[in-house]
Amino acid sequence: MRILSDHEVLRTWETGLTQHPVDRALTILATAFPGTGRDSLASMSVGQRDGYLMDVREANFGSGVSGVAECPQCGELLEWSLDLGEIWSPLENASEGGPNRLTLQEYELLYRLPDSTDLAAIVPGGDVARGRAALLRRCVLEARREGVEIEPISLPEEIILGMAAEMEARDPQAETLLDFECPECGARWQALFDILEFLWIEVQARARRLLGEVHDLARAYGWSEAAILEMSPVRRRFYLEAGA
Ligand SMILES: [Zn+2]
Repeated sequence: MRILSDHEVLRTWETGLTQHPVDRALTILATAFPGTGRDSLASMSVGQRDGYLMDVREANFGSGVSGVAECPQCGELLEWSLDLGEIWSPLENASEGGPNRLTLQEYELLYRLPDSTDLAAIVPGGDVARGRAALLRRCVLEARREGVEIEPISLPEEIILGMAAEMEARDPQAETLLDFECPECGARWQALFDILEFLWIEVQARARRLLGEVHDLARAYGWSEAAILEMSPVRRRFYLEAGA
């Protein structure tokens, strides 16, 4: 993995701004792992992908993450922070996407773990449970009932849920839940942690700061954007302070 240069942060931000989050994640990974093709990145299991995104976040912006959660019962706002190490399954433990075999009751399944192309296929704003079932059925490569091949679409909900539990065990990083307890009313709840969200916040912040510096230096000295971005941060800081 490479540390992103200022140019790369700006280019990633510019490209990612208008992208669907699934593509945005791939844009970041394609920049950080230039030797890996976009197809290979897209076919990583979701947990593997998130593990790499955590890697990029830590190497470029540190491992501290913080946010605010709202109590679903009383509306109290809860500030939280954590270190990515606390929720990180090391990459070497990440599962390969498959295919894997699974027998549940009279059903035999051959399945693979969901990847970015599967996530992209979910229609945004659709029914969550239905979208999830559709996603899981996409990942069934072959289904048999008592030895007879059947269409994955006809698998009963119970079997789909059983497969989902198996997938979760094989790819634990795919869904990270944070536990909260409200100090005001005692309510307990879980919220999904999305590493992409926290990585993108940092990319945005650095891109905006860089553009702000380019703006100030270009105005003060008349230098081009390319020339300013070529400079080390230390030199830019010096000129900014000298020009202030
Ligand atoms: Zn509460």
